[in-house]
Amino acid sequence: MEIIFCGTGGARFVVVKQLRATGGFIVKGKANIYFDPGPGALIRSLELKQDLQKLDAIAVTHAHIDHSNDCNLIIEAMTNGGKRRRGIVIGSSSALEGNERFDRVVSAYHQNLPEKKIVVKPGDKLSIKGVSIEATPTKHDDESGVGFKITSDGRTMGYTGDTDYIPELGKIFSGCDCLILNNLKPAGCHYPGHLDSELSIRILKEAKPKKAIIQHFGMGMLRAGPEAEARFIQKESGVETIAAKDGMVVRIEEGKRLTDFEG
Ligand SMILES: [Zn+2]
Ligand SMILES: [Zn+2]
Repeated sequence: MEIIFCGTGGARFVVVKQLRATGGFIVKGKANIYFDPGPGALIRSLELKQDLQKLDAIAVTHAHIDHSNDCNLIIEAMTNGGKRRRGIVIGSSSALEGNERFDRVVSAYHQNLPEKKIVVKPGDKLSIKGVSIEATPTKHDDESGVGFKITSDGRTMGYTGDTDYIPELGKIFSGCDCLILNNLKPAGCHYPGHLDSELSIRILKEAKPKKAIIQHFGMGMLRAGPEAEARFIQKESGVETIAAKDGMVVRIEEGKRLTDFEG
């Protein structure tokens, strides 16, 4: 399983100033899945030489713009401008259907370009080309938001999505080979609905994944230094933790450290 970070930033200031890219990440394995194609996802993924026509699915955790802005474009790329009806779009109900607070962020036209669209809520399970995908719960401003847990070739990767600490996450992400945490804020700086380094430590102590990657950094996190926060999280949790960088590629392999793949 390989993960390509097309962006590692999040929240409004980092997004509008592009202090970090905000293109989400692609997981490649038996199926290729684009998670949270935020602003710049198309251009960042092309810069990283990703072949978007090889995507099998696009997964949007929630309707916030830093997770969904380029979804329509990535669907166009996956379906060759709508000429080839292929792939699946997966998303929260807010992202695909909209509600009283959020207009749907994937247009009706674009939802019909792939083979299928699937609205997910926490606990829902599906499978694409032998890769199993489970939607996980979140506690966030977009109440219908989800995270994901995916298993491919015996390797399991968790992705918290945007969430505050909730006790279930320890059990849900228990024993993952790698857990990706949207660690918006540094230690000592809680912001409701999001993870900071202390809450990430709490989740890691409970879930005990083999490895962890923090990403989705806000201003405070960039000021504190994501690498320093990752070292603090690793020391306190006992879980190998790295801070994602824009364009970083890592592979989840038995017996290898995440830093073995860092360029
Ligand atoms: Zn976000
Ligand atoms: Zn959000």
